[in-house]
Amino acid sequence: MTSHVWHPFTQHGLNEPIPHVARAQGALLHLADGGTLIDAISSWWVTTHGHCHPRIAAAIAAQAGQLDQLIFAGYTHDPAETVARGLIDLAPRGEGQPELRHVFYSDSGSTAVEVALKMALGYWHNLALDGLATEESGGPRSRILVLEHSYHGDTIGAMSIGERGVYNAAWQPLLFDVGTIPFPAPGRERACLDALDAACARKPAAFIVEPLILGAGGMLIYSADILREMAAICRRHGVLFIADEVMTGWGRTGTLFACEQAGVVPDIMAVAKGITGGAIPLAATLATAPIFDAHRSTDRARLFYHSSSYTANAIACAAAVANLAIWREKDVLGRIVALTQGIATRLERLARHPAFANPRQLGTIAAIDLVAADAGYLSDLAPRLRAFFLGHGLLLRPLGNTIYLMPPYCLDEDQLDHIFTAIAAAGDHFGE
Ligand SMILES: *Cc1c(COP(=O)(O)O)cnc(C)c1O
Repeated sequence: MTSHVWHPFTQHGLNEPIPHVARAQGALLHLADGGTLIDAISSWWVTTHGHCHPRIAAAIAAQAGQLDQLIFAGYTHDPAETVARGLIDLAPRGEGQPELRHVFYSDSGSTAVEVALKMALGYWHNLALDGLATEESGGPRSRILVLEHSYHGDTIGAMSIGERGVYNAAWQPLLFDVGTIPFPAPGRERACLDALDAACARKPAAFIVEPLILGAGGMLIYSADILREMAAICRRHGVLFIADEVMTGWGRTGTLFACEQAGVVPDIMAVAKGITGGAIPLAATLATAPIFDAHRSTDRARLFYHSSSYTANAIACAAAVANLAIWREKDVLGRIVALTQGIATRLERLARHPAFANPRQLGTIAAIDLVAADAGYLSDLAPRLRAFFLGHGLLLRPLGNTIYLMPPYCLDEDQLDHIFTAIAAAGDHFGE
């Protein structure tokens, strides 16, 4: 049968036929043709507890029969209020640091990041209306600093602050200019922090980071100490510190949010992906009181001009309420610790395989590089690996020659063995 669907990040003409999934449960995807796949990357980093969690599914069903969708400009509802309170309760805290207090909803990680950027520039714009806080040039602060190799989403603004490359070459003319700080690779930490310090002295608006681990950039890990120093440098210069916790949030790195490991409270924090347990789209951008207060005024020129039709959709918020209840009532972190340990012992064994290098792990996220001759982003290694894993009953999606897993927390020991056996087999098959 012909398909009329145009898939995201999919090379039509090469990746076909496309697997057809009929249903999912826990860590398993059931294919229409009767086969099953272990979802080793949480359906692109969103599924946390497992697919079709009964409590989240029930919350969605109940809400769908009560209040489905409501204009959120000037109106509110219980699920949105409950999630906002829950997020503020769970948000990172730190001695002597401002508190995250306000929650702005949107629908995806990209929009949560766009909102974060708009909040940051709105803050400086509104301060400038009072004659305060201008850039070196004299205008309101507007420049954004980013970390090399970052990924923040695929909308125009989110692409602008992400790594430039073949995947956004067509839209270069639309992307705005940013200041890029070198990634703190081992041995280059000082260069990174010095560059950030120098760039902050020129009075930019904000610095945005993926805390502790850069996801799409290749699962690149840096230490909590560096994250803490980055935040301190920004604070010293009065530069807003934005944490993009879209991927790292909801337990992936071993704590609910990655910033906790550094004791850092960002001025603005973007969350999405696992906020509903991965069942339905929802995102939130959290802000401290000064950011909100800069927009609180009787002057209409200062209000925060941003909305989308489905902002704080009630069904999505109900799913998030259920997710937050699971986090409060169940020992999710205990499950994460067990999974982290299970991954660690197997990764250590795999690292002895001659075809692999650079094993790394942060919480439930693990990555290893396959040593192969042609391993660039555009090499055909990644699609060949993907097909190999598909043949072994696994949904894995390597980034170039980097094979990583980011499984749902319900993954069991047998499934972990299955995954690592298949990766070792890939090493035998594709390794040099
Ligand atoms: C996935 C991701 C985004 C974009 O989220 P979408 O929901 O896909 O728009 C932004 N930032 C990070 C760090 C991500 O991993």
